[in-house]
Amino acid sequence: MNVLVLGAGQLARMMALAVKPLNINIRAFDVGSGNVVDPLSTNIIFGDLAQGIEFADFITAEFEHIDHQTLAICQASGKLRPSSQAIKVGGDRRLEKNLLIKCNVANAKHQIIETKADFDQALDNLSFPLILKSALAGYDGKGQWRLKDKSNADSIWLDIKAFFDGAEQGVKHAVVAEQMVPFDREVSLVGARDSQGNTLVYPLTENHHTQGVLSVSIATQIDETLQAQAKKVFDSIANELDYIGVLAIEFFQIGEQLLVNEIAPRVHNSGHWTQQGADTCQFENHLRAVCDLPLGSTELVRPSAMINILGEDEVPNAILNIASTTLHWYGKSKRVGRKMGHINVSGNSEQQLAARLMSLADILPEAAFDELKPYVAAYQNKVN
Ligand code: AMP
Repeated sequence: MNVLVLGAGQLARMMALAVKPLNINIRAFDVGSGNVVDPLSTNIIFGDLAQGIEFADFITAEFEHIDHQTLAICQASGKLRPSSQAIKVGGDRRLEKNLLIKCNVANAKHQIIETKADFDQALDNLSFPLILKSALAGYDGKGQWRLKDKSNADSIWLDIKAFFDGAEQGVKHAVVAEQMVPFDREVSLVGARDSQGNTLVYPLTENHHTQGVLSVSIATQIDETLQAQAKKVFDSIANELDYIGVLAIEFFQIGEQLLVNEIAPRVHNSGHWTQQGADTCQFENHLRAVCDLPLGSTELVRPSAMINILGEDEVPNAILNIASTTLHWYGKSKRVGRKMGHINVSGNSEQQLAARLMSLADILPEAAFDELKPYVAAYQNKVN
């Protein structure tokens, strides 16, 4: 089976590594260069998209910010899974909010802003503090403004207006203003839906962000009521989109309630722990769904965690002395803040996982993993 992935980053790479044993060959379309490449070596295989589409039995995507013309061409081939509509929803917060409303799932109160009148209305209708997020191409905390009260509204509006005015030709920007949610923690649900409509989800994962970017995820056996609440949301969104593949949903947890923050129509950073911590990893399950193979079990094998390596191209080799620890590099050149790789670690109990996480935090340089130690210490306190 041959599959073309739109996007040639680490997610395409990890898909390729995961499904080689299933005899699924992955090629990746590098949207920047327009070439179809080998996702591991990045060697050019084809010079254009058309040859990539011809090669593929199925086409999928590793990110949602793909230009609409490329999506339309792939959709027309009849090979694209999930559909272009599902991919677009993940890349436009306006469509995403409309989907959440349609599916009747809880999310933060919001207003879409396209004009100054919308902005003024949002200030009147929503409660402070507010977070304002660019509707398009905003991820990992980029393209965002925060508003504590009305006092700096004028300068924020000027900033947003400049952002609107600077749009490329043909692009109409908007901003989604959202009430800040006083959440207890952030969690996400990664799951898969096949073409027959069967769904399987992994356990909810607790996520810690550092400066708006995911830094640590922890997956353990979770409260069944909360898991059922998240699964219900997953099913309603995945069914509404007639989704095929892995889909991730990020939530804010307040007490026992989950509010959807955003959805990602793809394998997700908060699901990387599944490589060692679940029966079938998210990358394999995505390709199983896309290629019409039966979904694999999403059961947690044992408590597991993932630590992102951001902006560093080396870590002390001594971390590999810690039992049940694996290192995954993405083969990318070093840049400040860039996702360069991740570390997975598992334990037979949460206590053992916490102890191994603490051993990692002791070895990893504090400057590059600055919030790791306090976060792990708090987790260790919770489970001991
Ligand atoms: P996003 O790009 O929507 O995932 O936002 C990045 C991060 O900003 C989230 O992971 C949260 O930590 C924070 N954030 C986003 N929206 C809200 C909100 N409505 N209330 C509180 N925190 C938020």
